[in-house]
Parts: sequence; structure tokens; C-alpha cells
Amino acid sequence: MAWWSRTPGVGADPQEPKKSVPKGVWNKCERCAATLYEVDLDANLRVCASCNHHFRMGTQQRIDLICDDGSWQEHDLGLESADPLGFRVDGRKYADQLKAQARKVGPGDAYRAGSATVGGIAVEAGFFAFEFMGGSMGSVVGEKITRQFERALAARVPAIVFCASGGARMQEGVLSLMQMAKTSAARSRLREARVPYVSVLLHPTTGGVAASIAMLGDVIMAEPEALIGFAGPRVIEQTIRQQLPPGFQRSEFLLEHGMVDLVTARAQLKPQLIRVLRWFTDAGAAPGPGAIEVEDRTVPGNGANGHGPHDDVDGEPESIDSGDSGDSPDSPDSPDDE
Ligand SMILES: [Zn+2]
Repeated sequence: MAWWSRTPGVGADPQEPKKSVPKGVWNKCERCAATLYEVDLDANLRVCASCNHHFRMGTQQRIDLICDDGSWQEHDLGLESADPLGFRVDGRKYADQLKAQARKVGPGDAYRAGSATVGGIAVEAGFFAFEFMGGSMGSVVGEKITRQFERALAARVPAIVFCASGGARMQEGVLSLMQMAKTSAARSRLREARVPYVSVLLHPTTGGVAASIAMLGDVIMAEPEALIGFAGPRVIEQTIRQQLPPGFQRSEFLLEHGMVDLVTARAQLKPQLIRVLRWFTDAGAAPGPGAIEVEDRTVPGNGANGHGPHDDVDGEPESIDSGDSGDSPDSPDSPDDE
């Protein structure tokens, strides 16, 4: 027998229900473990106030953040997968999985496209809905992106895609892989017509989406520390039998290596996007209202690492350096952006 024992009746009453915090009130930062009040987190655009970690943001919240108030007009909300091959995954019909997702997340499959204005500039915008089957690109997503690009082409307004996707939707087999070619072809028609396309990479942008439209932007922007890549790091390590460098496949790493043009904190995403759009459209002649403060995380000294927008977009060879590119990454936004 142990030399100590618990006196019955002392301490927590096992009959008493455990006191727990109601779900959805508090959140814990994945990076710094700070306890965050959900209301504050929402108010701070789902960015941790203590360590600047960017939580995933819901698609509707993202649309509200980027598009000017009341300007969002959604298209193709009713598009549904035809499921012509009668896919079954894990013993469940793919069609049933889709219905279950739509009930949970809402209609629109894993992509929402619409016409909107951003800083007064008309755009055709599209948002991957990661909450819908991991933002995977199947035939509906591919068709929506294609139609979005066609609208942008017809109206000659910039197209923007916010990518957050696990890649091609394996439940649709080869049909999902075909979307990479389909969307890339639609994108190339924009290029031929010299209509700008900006892609914004969010956490995570991987697989077939990273291998197609995500990396085809005239300007490629990314949120801090977003995972961006084709295959996951473990697969790569096993294939090349080498240890990968720290920060591999994160936005900042890609910026340093020239795959991404700008890494922009969420709070600065819209102002920075407006700046990019103005640069493409003639409205850019006059720098905008002081709202356009520029991001602090470009590589010091070389702007967007020497990679401006691709040459095929007509325009002066001015760079879209972020104004403060010579400053240290932590310096406050420089006042010369006014
Ligand atoms: Zn944190």
C-alpha cells in the first residue's frame, strides 16, 4: 500500500461536470501558444497579436477584406460537378461527399468567383475556399477560374486569384488534373491580350494548383509563412535524400529565391494589391491616397529580388519595389509612400 492515499470526498468531485471553456471563444496560437480571444482575433484579421502568426481566414471574410464594400457580385455559384464517372472514394459516393460539404460550408464548391472593385479598380476576383474539401481543384473550380479569366478578358480588367489549396481533387481522377491545363490555357489568353493577372498565395498553396495558375501571375504575392510548393517537404527529402534548409517552401524562402514577388502581411494585403493594380492600370499615374503603405517583409536591398512583373505586360520598366525595400524588414512603413 502506498504511504499516501487520497481521503475520499476531498478534492474534485468526480460527479461534478468538468468546467470547460465554451468552444469558439478562445483560440491558441499555433506558433507562440498565446491564448487569444476569438473576437480580438477576428478584429485583427485572424493574425496573432503577439507573434504575427497568420491563422487561416474564412473565404467570406477574405472577400470582405479585399473587395470594396458592396462591390462583390458573385458568378457561377450554382455550378456543380457532373460526376460523369460515378466516382467513389473510401466507399462513399463522391456526389454524396459534395452534398455533405455544401451543407457544411455552403454552395460554390471550392472556389468563389465574382466581379468587384478593389480600391475603385474593377477586377475579376476569385478565391479558393480551403474549407471546402481542402480547396481542391476539380472540374467546377477549373471551370469557374476559366470563366473568371474569360470575363476579365472580355472586360479587359485585371484578374486576381487568391490561392489556398491542397492541389488537384483526387476524387475526380484525371478530370481534376485536366484543370491544370485548362486554367493555364485560359490564363495564357489573358497574357496574349495583355490583361494583367495577379495571384496571391495563401497558406497552403500546394499540388496541382501550385503547379498551374498559382505560379502564373504577372505578379505573385504571398502572405507571410504560407506553405507554397508542389510536393510536401517529407516527400522531397525522401526523394533527394537530403535535409531541406530551414524555412523551405515558406513564402519568405520563395521570395529570396525569386518564385514570389512580394510577401505582404494580411493587414497590408489590400493596399499593396491596389498599388500593384494601379501600376498595371493607368490609374496608377498618381500614387494613391496615403492608405498605400507598403509591406515590411520584402528582401532588403533588392526589392522583389529583381523580379518585377513579367516583361510581357506592357509598361514602363519602373519596378514595383515596395518603396521601403532598402529598409530593414522590421522598420515601420516608410513615409515616402505618400
Ligand atoms: Zn502567436
